Amino acid sequence: MEDNYRHKGLRNKLIEKLIEKGITDEKVLSAIRSVPRHWFMDSSFLQFAYEDKAFPIGSGQTISQPYTVAVQTSLLNIKKGDKVLEVGTGSGYQSCVLIALGAKVYTIERQRKLYLKTKEFMQKIGYRVKYATYGDGFLGLPAFAPFDKIIVTAAAPVIPEALKEQLKVGGVLVIPTGEGTQKMLRLTKTDEHNFETEEFGDFKFVPLLRGKADD
Ligand code: SAH
Repeated sequence: MEDNYRHKGLRNKLIEKLIEKGITDEKVLSAIRSVPRHWFMDSSFLQFAYEDKAFPIGSGQTISQPYTVAVQTSLLNIKKGDKVLEVGTGSGYQSCVLIALGAKVYTIERQRKLYLKTKEFMQKIGYRVKYATYGDGFLGLPAFAPFDKIIVTAAAPVIPEALKEQLKVGGVLVIPTGEGTQKMLRLTKTDEHNFETEEFGDFKFVPLLRGKADD
């Protein structure tokens, strides 16, 4: 897996673009600068790897737009050692950005082929998630709960109760919610039964679907 001066130069340009768009968190910017996004795409699409755009990764899914990754990651406010659940593994790119920030990442993907492919790929490039699984993220990961942070990287029609339950008190859930375009929500668990909700603009995600898929 090559990561040469040209790739690093393109990545620096992408970082400049993210700063122009309002991303200020230095730690998040350097995590994005450190992860070679072009590794997550077919080599023939290199010119697209560092555009600020979502891109198809097969199985009808996409690697999220860098700006979206930057916003969601900033909202999580990751501290080294945080136990983070990601719903929607996809290409593994968001997981790698979280790992680069020192998070312990648990990730769920509902599409079996994508889960298998990404799991193998992450091992190959040397980014270690704590746990990757094939399952329905609506249910969270009760066996490993509670989590400091939870990030959902697909459009949720409603906020899954299981995810709220599986957060530590003081923990945050970042989730795009709604049909068509989504509002980015951040829920902070203030005590066992209460949440404070903040809203952060409109985004467009592939849908969060119920159940597992065998393809
Ligand atoms: N975080 C990913 C973004 C992938 S797109 C990345 O960085 O590349 C969203 C992913 O969520 C898709 O792969 C989709 O299959 C998955 N997904 C949708 N509904 C899901 C569910 N209920 N549980 C787990 N994954 C789900």
